[in-house]
Amino acid sequence: MVNYKDLGLVNTREMFKKAVAGGYAIPAFNFNTMEQMQAIVQAAVETKSPVIMQVSKGARNYANATILRYMAEGAVAYAKELGCKNPEIVLHLDHGDSFELCKDCIDMGFSSVMYDGSSLPYEENIKISRQVVEYAHKYDVTVECELGVLAGVEDEVASEVSHYTKPEEVIDFATRTGCDSLAISIGTSHGAYKFKPEQCTRDPKTGKLVPPPLAFDVLHEIEKKLPGFPIVLHGSSSVPQEEVDTINKYGGNLPDAVGIPEEQLREASKSAVCKINIDSDSRLAMTAAIRKYLAEHPDHFDPRQYLKPARENMKKMYIHKIVNVLGSDGKLG
Ligand SMILES: [Zn+2]
Repeated sequence: MVNYKDLGLVNTREMFKKAVAGGYAIPAFNFNTMEQMQAIVQAAVETKSPVIMQVSKGARNYANATILRYMAEGAVAYAKELGCKNPEIVLHLDHGDSFELCKDCIDMGFSSVMYDGSSLPYEENIKISRQVVEYAHKYDVTVECELGVLAGVEDEVASEVSHYTKPEEVIDFATRTGCDSLAISIGTSHGAYKFKPEQCTRDPKTGKLVPPPLAFDVLHEIEKKLPGFPIVLHGSSSVPQEEVDTINKYGGNLPDAVGIPEEQLREASKSAVCKINIDSDSRLAMTAAIRKYLAEHPDHFDPRQYLKPARENMKKMYIHKIVNVLGSDGKLG
């Protein structure tokens, strides 16, 4: 049993309180590799931003849970080495699908976990969420729960259709589970294909897809029911067109990939939304840089040669999100 405090990590409680009051959101970036971890830490240190590093079940399967935990511990030490005296780094489990998985992560040093029972019947979701919260709070670990279903595919999480969170359920759910934050569904979606072409309109000038707007009316309704309560948005990559274009130019094939426009995320950040999850954008930034590099240097084969520009491109994207979309820069301490 390792407590996150011994690893120099923090939970989300104070972080979210300040973010809700300050009208900004904390970036939650998924990571699986050393290069992603380095890029996240460099971006957070340079912008003086708190940051949530999150691990999905797929990441645990890919990289090994123990290694990821040590990487998070290393992230804290690395941030200090880069000159940040008091880094605020959360190690968070993304989409925990059972009490056992959440417990396992808490026991190995995670400072925050998500239990996602959104696909279960309402009462079942409450029951297991409550069980996770009771265990987590013993160790001062914060818990995110989910109500409503997001469409899209992310690692093992997949759903064909979305169901918006019902504002009339949130008070009962938050009270009975005791969760510290609530992930809601208002039209964001997992993956790089968030919307089918028939759900979108097409920009007549560029021919690019324009996605349907987020349901801000549902968000505002939820905010009214739970004033000041931390709200989380999943599936909030913007799928930057320039990265998609680079991938397609250098041999990729991602037709009609579409994400959430950054103006809408910027608007959401100013509300009770205090955590925004971004995963696909990092995947796209990494892949675009690698494809371009390898196409331009067909004789190179040292992974460091193509992972270096990949890391730089991810870092650029993380800094852009922190400064221009979420507004969490300069918010350390
Ligand atoms: Zn998610």
